[in-house]
Amino acid sequence: MELEILGGYGGESRDCRLTCVLVDGTTALDAGSLSQALSVERQVGVRSIVLTHSHMDHTASLPFFIENVYGRAEGAVDIYASQATIYAIRKYLFNNATWPDFTRLPNHLLPALRFHELEPEVPFTLDGVSFTPFEVNHTVPTFGFLIERGGRAVLWSSDTGPTLRLWEIANRTPNLAAVMLDTSFDDAMQQVADVSLHLTPRTLARELDKLDKKVPVLLHHLKPPSIAKIHEEVRALANPDLEFVEQGKVYSF
Ligand SMILES: [Zn+2]
Ligand SMILES: [Zn+2]
Repeated sequence: MELEILGGYGGESRDCRLTCVLVDGTTALDAGSLSQALSVERQVGVRSIVLTHSHMDHTASLPFFIENVYGRAEGAVDIYASQATIYAIRKYLFNNATWPDFTRLPNHLLPALRFHELEPEVPFTLDGVSFTPFEVNHTVPTFGFLIERGGRAVLWSSDTGPTLRLWEIANRTPNLAAVMLDTSFDDAMQQVADVSLHLTPRTLARELDKLDKKVPVLLHHLKPPSIAKIHEEVRALANPDLEFVEQGKVYSF
């Protein structure tokens, strides 16, 4: 299984793209930067999009991606998300005011975009990759995902503050290759992290006490102004299992 990090950050700047991971070339996990990171030819190859939640840093490229692949891709692009996320995307993004409703274009019988509702803890498979959504602790309903193929598993946290279910799943998954975890703000921004339900190096250290096995923990969703301080504070934790997700890198599991 290959995870290509198209966008690895929780904010945008010249060097930082919004959260977006391409799984085995055809499925995107979140869509913060699909249209910025991929050529149009590669965008046409993306057939399914799994959304963790409705926030813009995870959905911002959807309108431009759909426009790029419209009429070029065979059939509809399938979007998989919770009921709450689908509601928000339909109401605020594809609402015929901010962008056309591509679930009715070119017509409602053969649309360019289709939504599929996910239930927590109910796995589904896309192109041979299994995704199991589970609830994490964020300001809007948000799913993390256990992603599995060929006997290897990776946990993707999405955006979360301190949580429990993610660690229960990590601890009970025998073939877990990595945990990929939110670390959005530096410690001085603790109050902001607490109200927006994200982790800092300080709360990350407490979260890791809930993990009872030794696996690499790759940190993502850093906010661009916090990057240098987060790196410093994570280094000070002196935990050899901690790494940062590298934007542009293809991780093979
Ligand atoms: Zn986010
Ligand atoms: Zn969020």
